[in-house]
Amino acid sequence: MFSKKILSLVAMWLLLVLNAFSANKRFTLVIDAGHGGHDAGALGTISKEKDINLSVALAFGRYVERNQPDVRVVYTRKTDVFIPLKERANIANRANADLFISVHTNALPAGKIARGFETYTLGMHRAKDNLDVAMRENSVISMEKGYQQTYQGFDPRSSESYIIFEFIQGKNMERSVELARMIQKSVCTGANRPNKGVHQAGFLVLRETSMPGCLIELGFITTPDEEQLLNSTNRVDDIARGIYQAFAQYKDRYDKGVSVPYRPTDDNKAEAPTIVPSDYKEEKTLAVAKPATRSTRAAQPRTAPVRKVEEQEHKQNQKKVVKAQNQTKDEPVFKVQILASSRVLRTGDCHLKGETEYDSYQENGMVKYTMGASTNYNEIYRLRKSLLEKFPEAFIIAFKNGQKYDVGQAIREYKQNKNK
Ligand SMILES: [Zn+2]
Repeated sequence: MFSKKILSLVAMWLLLVLNAFSANKRFTLVIDAGHGGHDAGALGTISKEKDINLSVALAFGRYVERNQPDVRVVYTRKTDVFIPLKERANIANRANADLFISVHTNALPAGKIARGFETYTLGMHRAKDNLDVAMRENSVISMEKGYQQTYQGFDPRSSESYIIFEFIQGKNMERSVELARMIQKSVCTGANRPNKGVHQAGFLVLRETSMPGCLIELGFITTPDEEQLLNSTNRVDDIARGIYQAFAQYKDRYDKGVSVPYRPTDDNKAEAPTIVPSDYKEEKTLAVAKPATRSTRAAQPRTAPVRKVEEQEHKQNQKKVVKAQNQTKDEPVFKVQILASSRVLRTGDCHLKGETEYDSYQENGMVKYTMGASTNYNEIYRLRKSLLEKFPEAFIIAFKNGQKYDVGQAIREYKQNKNK
């Protein structure tokens, strides 16, 4: 009895200490140089992938250490050693990292030529090329003893195994896609690399990490002039600086405890996988005052409605939303966001868990699914509660005049309007 009491007191104290610690936690970046040791990665004529990856990873890390002393940089390897994929992810998870960046070099079968820089985030893409890259990068696990157990039956050479990647949700994915776009833009402009865009594929090392992250393919080691530049100290430095600048931009946006502010001079549009159908026409939205600062823009992202896959089935729901918006000009409309996806889901998709009365909108390259629409916050609050069993991560969002709106501000306005 006595010891139980002490134990719970100690547990409470530990919890308090841990909370205080995590509040002051430094931003932790994990840099993962792909391959190493007996795993050389892809082979060129004058070099090996593992060495190119390491030189870029170390150069990138040096930029971070020099320019952002408040960031803790953790390397999965700093020398030519073999580290299993799972261990790379474990290093990041144990470090409680905020961001994971894996550096690789691409390759093509003999006779094929390609040039350029590309960034991958975790996800499933139908394109066979993306699957090929993921399969090649994942195949290293067959060099590990007992990999069938470690990766729960995952077979890197079977396309069937990749179906599990088809659906990833949550803010990690949004942030990863945003980071990938920043890296593409920054490196391709700053280091003059052909922009091969942001892609999604099933990389094990990204699946096993629990923080936002992406995997960079620096260029094609099998293309002679690309291999040359990836072995040039100056070009490696340009690329590393480009990755660093994108990292600084990302950290500036998402790390609130930032002490070395970085202000990019231009916007950061870059190619991304097409999610909205190509014939999609942007609807006219009500004019809103231009946000004065970058941070307010980040807090109120531009949103665009997503065209329905099967219009008919959502008629009823759309009517409801339109009604709510007409009734309540200038009043915030609350909704429950149930999930986010990198692609448009078909009606009846298992992730919608049988719900048909949903609506969707697009933001930061993701399709977001919502339920309900009301200016009455309490109504939406109750709706969320009733949805939690099916969608444990459901949360309330707000719109105003058809634009995504800060939910805290929306609740304050709701309370003010109620007291009028
Ligand atoms: Zn690789």
